[in-house]
Amino acid sequence: MKKIIMLCALIIGFATPAFAQVKIGMVIDDLRLERWQKDRDMFVDRAEELGAKVYVQSANGNEQTQISQVENMISRGVDVLVIIPTNGEVLSNVIKEAKRDGINVLAYDRLINNAEIDFYLSFDNEKVGELQAKALVEAQPTGNYFLMGGSPTDNNAKLFRQGQMNVLQPKIDSGDIKVVGDQWVDYWLAENALKIMENALTANQNEIDVVVASNDATAGGAIQALDAQGLAGKVAISGQDADLAAIRRIVDGTQTMTIYKPISTLATRAAEIAVELGEDQAPTSNFSINNGIKDVPSFLLEPIPVNRTNVKTTVIADKFHKESDVYTQ
Ligand code: BGC
Repeated sequence: MKKIIMLCALIIGFATPAFAQVKIGMVIDDLRLERWQKDRDMFVDRAEELGAKVYVQSANGNEQTQISQVENMISRGVDVLVIIPTNGEVLSNVIKEAKRDGINVLAYDRLINNAEIDFYLSFDNEKVGELQAKALVEAQPTGNYFLMGGSPTDNNAKLFRQGQMNVLQPKIDSGDIKVVGDQWVDYWLAENALKIMENALTANQNEIDVVVASNDATAGGAIQALDAQGLAGKVAISGQDADLAAIRRIVDGTQTMTIYKPISTLATRAAEIAVELGEDQAPTSNFSINNGIKDVPSFLLEPIPVNRTNVKTTVIADKFHKESDVYTQ
């Protein structure tokens, strides 16, 4: 009898963790962009290390597809949703459905407005914008500035712009800087940025000294247009994400700077938070942000500016990129 009881206890003991496995649905805006592939890989690695099961889907920049994917995750019975929203304004209803089913929601990197989310993890995005503008003003303190915002449906794009304007506005007011154009790039796509830059150059007879680009994908498109006019390397231009192509452009002198956001810190922390939310624990926060209906407990990480002088001590030292990939012949 005792033996049987011990056997049962053993079976229950071993069986519990399998029953308690946290199921995570990760819904990503767009895996076509290099940065999100890194986020996915690192997130999944850490979550699996913690014993969770992760289902991943990419909406390829389509907000309707993303809503269906969230619905699909709800019917799969996930415990937690980790959402990188395509449009942070349109998910209120589907998140309401998730909450009805007891699913907790983590907004990953981008805030989701007017929705019952449980946690928001990101970088200090206003600071990203400030660092971009500071570097550009240092490189080119006066002249014609073209503002190239990110996707108009991404809350981060607005925060980057806010940060950029914190630095630029006093110089615009003093007349040192003239804003010669202001456009937002749909879906953050390089091909859209290329067209916008071509038109801006034509409209301004190539008299543009600085492009305030909000990420590396859009900077890449803009630089292609500048290059076609023999202006690559002559016009200061910012970026963000420390994409390999951007780091190479920085080394070559055609892009002024980028922002390195250690994705491993974000993705591993997110996986830990997702598991905590899956177990109905409250993750540690260092910030709180109002998303229109609630103060969302948040955690913000520090962005790092990268230019030609610190490529080695930042992205290479961190093994974000290999030195041999950056400095190719
Ligand atoms: C992220 C950037 C990224 C952009 C495009 C933003 O929300 O913060 O790192 O470049 O989306 O995917």
